[in-house]
This record gives sequence, structure tokens and C-alpha cells, in this order.
Amino acid sequence: MSVRQNQLNSLISEDGLLLGHFPYAEAPKSDLISVYPGLEVHYDTFEALKKMRAAAAADGISLVFLSGFRSLDLQGQIFYENKSIRNQIAIERAKVSAPPGYSEHSTGYAIDLGDGTMRGTDFEVTFEDTPAFKWLKKYAAKYHFVLSFPKGNSQGVSYEPWHWRFEGTVDALREFEPANNRQRMERNSRSY
Ligand SMILES: [Zn+2]
Repeated sequence: MSVRQNQLNSLISEDGLLLGHFPYAEAPKSDLISVYPGLEVHYDTFEALKKMRAAAAADGISLVFLSGFRSLDLQGQIFYENKSIRNQIAIERAKVSAPPGYSEHSTGYAIDLGDGTMRGTDFEVTFEDTPAFKWLKKYAAKYHFVLSFPKGNSQGVSYEPWHWRFEGTVDALREFEPANNRQRMERNSRSY
């Protein structure tokens, strides 16, 4: 284990979260399927994505797949290299990118989506103003996709309108049970 990983481990909270992110294991290669060169997702995610993209296209919406499965190595590069470029401390960085071992992207069930007609909004909060996002808000649930980090989420992660996770199988649901549990608890405590 690297020095960096050791430093991160000292930031893990009592409930197992690291800087607001739940731990996720890397999906086995055998569960992954290539959508196009450089983008892989879990095969169950792939089937649902294909259907969702076709339905969107039929409504005149251009859904673009920006990022799917990420290995722990790649997530580490994103987390540490963006961090050093932006000269941010780990806590700030974790708001926009999960530390390695704590990204939903490792599961193969997460997908970052863009609008093919408004590529300037890729990975930007302004994605919420695109026709693609408005369509997703209405129809993504039909294909079992859930917005992982809505505004004011209980994990304290920055709002990411582009980041969706697939929850359409028992295996996928099991992966996200801790995150969903936390949201349920938060909702219940708010209703008192
Ligand atoms: Zn993402």
C-alpha cells in the first residue's frame, strides 16, 4: 500500500466512508463489455444503456457516454493528478472525484452522460440545462438509472448532474445498498 493510500486511510470515517464516498471493489474483467474503444461498462449496464439511448434518440435527444468503468489505477490517476494540477487538498478534490477504491465507476454500473448537441456542458453543472438532462430526469428511472449525487446529497459530494448509476439488477442494488440506506435514513430524519 502506498504512502498516499495510507494517508487517505486515516481519513476514513466510522461508517466506512472516505471523504463522503462509499468503498467499491473493482468489477472483474469478465463482467465488463466494451461500448466503444476506451469505454467499458458492466454488461447489465450496457443492455439498459443501449435501450435508453435508443429511446432518447427516438425523442430527438442525443445521449453521449463520457465515462464508464474505471480501474482502481485509472481512478487513482484521476484523483491524484487532477489534484496536483489544481493544487487542491484531498477534501476539496473528493467533492468532484472519488478517491481510488471509492468510486462508483469501479463497479461498472456508473456512467457519465453528456448531450451530443452541447458538448461544452460535458462534466459541467450546466449539463442540467441541456435537453439530454431534462429527458433523463423524466425517463432514466424507466431504465433503472439513478442520479448518484443530486443537489444537497447526504454524502456531501458535489452535485453531478452527468453521473448516473444503474440499479436494475439485484447485484447492482446490492452494490449501492449502503448509499441508498444512507439516503433513506436522511429522508426519514428530515421528516421528523
Ligand atoms: Zn462519474
